[in-house]
Amino acid sequence: MGRAFVYVIIGGGVAAGYAAHEFVQAGVSSGELCIISEEPVAPYERPALSKGYLLPEAPARLPSFHCCVGTNEERLAPKWYNENGIELILGNRVKSADVRRKTLLTATGETISYKYLIVATGARALKLEEFGVNTLDAPNVCYLRDVADADRLVDVMQSRSGGQAVVIGGGYIGMECAASLVINNLNVTMVFPEAQCMARLFTPKIAAFYEEFYQSKGVKFVKGTVLTSFDFNSDGKVCAVNLRDGSKLPADMVVIGIGIRPNTSLFEGQLTMEKGGIKVNGKMQSSNSSVYAIGDVAAFPVKIVGETRRLEHVDSARRAARHVVSAIIEPEKTGEFDYLPFFYSRVFTLSWQFYGDNAGEVVHFGDFSGHAFGAYWMNKGHLVGSFLEGGTKEQYEALAQATRLKPKIEDLAELESQGLEYAFSVIQKPPSPRPAEVGGSTLVLDKPLHVWHATTGVIVAASVAAFAYWYGRKRKRW
Ligand SMILES: Cc1cc2nc3c(=O)[nH]c(=O)nc-3n(C[C@H](O)[C@H](O)[C@H](O)COP(=O)(O)OP(=O)(O)OC[C@H]3O[C@@H](n4cnc5c(N)ncnc54)[C@H](O)[C@@H]3O)c2cc1C
Repeated sequence: MGRAFVYVIIGGGVAAGYAAHEFVQAGVSSGELCIISEEPVAPYERPALSKGYLLPEAPARLPSFHCCVGTNEERLAPKWYNENGIELILGNRVKSADVRRKTLLTATGETISYKYLIVATGARALKLEEFGVNTLDAPNVCYLRDVADADRLVDVMQSRSGGQAVVIGGGYIGMECAASLVINNLNVTMVFPEAQCMARLFTPKIAAFYEEFYQSKGVKFVKGTVLTSFDFNSDGKVCAVNLRDGSKLPADMVVIGIGIRPNTSLFEGQLTMEKGGIKVNGKMQSSNSSVYAIGDVAAFPVKIVGETRRLEHVDSARRAARHVVSAIIEPEKTGEFDYLPFFYSRVFTLSWQFYGDNAGEVVHFGDFSGHAFGAYWMNKGHLVGSFLEGGTKEQYEALAQATRLKPKIEDLAELESQGLEYAFSVIQKPPSPRPAEVGGSTLVLDKPLHVWHATTGVIVAASVAAFAYWYGRKRKRW
């Protein structure tokens, strides 16, 4: 048995959801688009899983965070796909692909053929077994990539309240899960081999701020060592974690966040790979002209840094999804994907954003003893990256715009003293006030944000309220 579609997307994550939305906006006809996903639920905003989903009170649950609520667009519940004539095949895995014949074979034995294929298979969490550590499928060892993982994490976390949690890994997942574990009343120890958290992105000074903040919440750090084995109790649960430095940490539960691996296996030997992903051009087109790739699985030319990169971030997946639909439907009108890398995280009452590239020399600015500071990266005399903790929407936008312009930097000391105002001067806007004070669980935004808008107080009040509401919701949920 087989079916044929004009467009097929493999994978039902963030990139697939945003691509589906874009196809409908572009007027795709009923019956032309098919999405095949291993997950049993329609595409959703995956970042919610380490944020709102893990909250002890009023946690986010589907259907509230289906795509595309992350960009304040419509929420695509399963019925939306149905109403728009999109074939959404859930809980089914594509087990092989033949790009020469343009066919896919699903785990249920169906052959699906396509004219255009979009690979949006994302990535999977790296497992300890791949590093020679056996978990013996202990029920209190958790990973976090999909809703099933998140449900398991919530169950384990709730049943171990007051106990000891060990988090392995100091990257995004480790940091966000550690914060959630604290909020859920677990005593948390983080273990990672590097000298600091978020070693791939943060400078030592930025990392020190977050580590101190986490310590103030009771989190302990064990750095420079790795997990070597577990001790198990008679129920088969992990009861202690053994580290290479010889120490042993008691554990009522363990969360593993040691990185991800792109899901490329369907296409190994069929498509050109680079940086561990499927290599695509600026139209997200692979080495086979009918096959496109987007999201975590795609290695694409990041024009602003002048090299091919694979990004593991939601903004990149969303924007590439929009771009690929345009590149397929209107190839002659679609240019090269011109993307400014953008990463963010929200933990406890903190919130940061990063734009561009963290290469070259760094200048820090702002108040590292408060919650309003940042950094600029300069490479070959030009601004290439920027980071800000505790900023307002306007401040983040100014940083993004300034970073995109890659201005020449003449004087590092001047840049340091100007700090955030430098970004406003580059984009030629009046400087923003200091980043909003962070207090409690939401930003305090009851003062006018724009000095230069003081005469239009009503408009400002309305926009501030709207932003505070929007931002508060985002912070609270995902
Ligand atoms: C817990 C968590 C928190 C995150 N938080 C942030 C954040 O705060 N900020 C940020 O920028 N990024 C964050 N990310 C990263 C972000 O979610 C990813 O970059 C984004 O989801 C990538 O989208 P994607 O569509 O490429 O992959 P995914 O969203 O992972 O979707 C891939 C889909 O493909 C399916 N699939 C794979 N293989 C097959 C197959 N053979 N057949 C059928 N289906 C298949 C998978 O089951 C999945 O549904 C987070 C990720 C996680 C896991």
